[in-house]
Amino acid sequence: MVQGTVAERQFVSNDISKDMDLLLEEIREETRATRLATDREALDPRVMNALREVPRHRFVPDELQFGAYANRPLPIGHGQTISQPYIVALMTDLIQPGPDDVVLEIGTGSGYQAAILSRLVKRVYTIEIVESLAKDANERLRRLGYDNVEIQVGNGWLGWPQHGPYDAILVAAAASRIPAALVGQLKPGGRLVIPVGEPHSAQNLVVITKQNDGQLEMKHVLPVAFVPLIGNPESR
Ligand code: SAH
Repeated sequence: MVQGTVAERQFVSNDISKDMDLLLEEIREETRATRLATDREALDPRVMNALREVPRHRFVPDELQFGAYANRPLPIGHGQTISQPYIVALMTDLIQPGPDDVVLEIGTGSGYQAAILSRLVKRVYTIEIVESLAKDANERLRRLGYDNVEIQVGNGWLGWPQHGPYDAILVAAAASRIPAALVGQLKPGGRLVIPVGEPHSAQNLVVITKQNDGQLEMKHVLPVAFVPLIGNPESR
């Protein structure tokens, strides 16, 4: 596109694969820029491939299509957001997804993160507390053929014990503390990736690994900004 603002020229080229190339390059750059914090020069090529395979514009509202391939979070209604692509990529990399893994996601939102995970693991279970978001995400994932993802309307603080324990759990909203139920539903050797902190204040992306002897190893990765994980059953 020749006319238009810088943002339009950058992100609406009428050529989605070109927009995608630009986005993946930005993710590579941001990965390099944050390497001291994350301990990663580059993300797993399988994760980058999964990002390339999933059409982000199908998860973004019609009126925001121009921004679908910008490296930014976008509103998806109900005060919620689809996360920034770099953060989706980083969190996916941090859970070290394997092809036989069964993974739990908390905070389905648009279903984008679940779709990325579905390309990399055997099965994805995802919980969303806002019923209409869960319904829309379910329809979207079915339409796009991501058939190894199952969505439940519920409170992610409690996890989804029926299908656990999980190889990995990814939480896409900021928790004021680490939900004990989620730690309990991790397999030995499992990884939990979760933003921890109060809304509108400092949050940290944390990786918790459950050792084979049950001990937990915790690592702070990066300051982040997520919408809150609501409904903490212990604070009622
Ligand atoms: N992963 C999403 C983005 C998540 S935004 C995507 O790829 O689009 C965070 C989501 O967590 C919101 O949809 C919000 O409604 C949901 N959420 C907040 N608290 C929750 C809880 N206790 N249990 C489940 N979902 C929750």
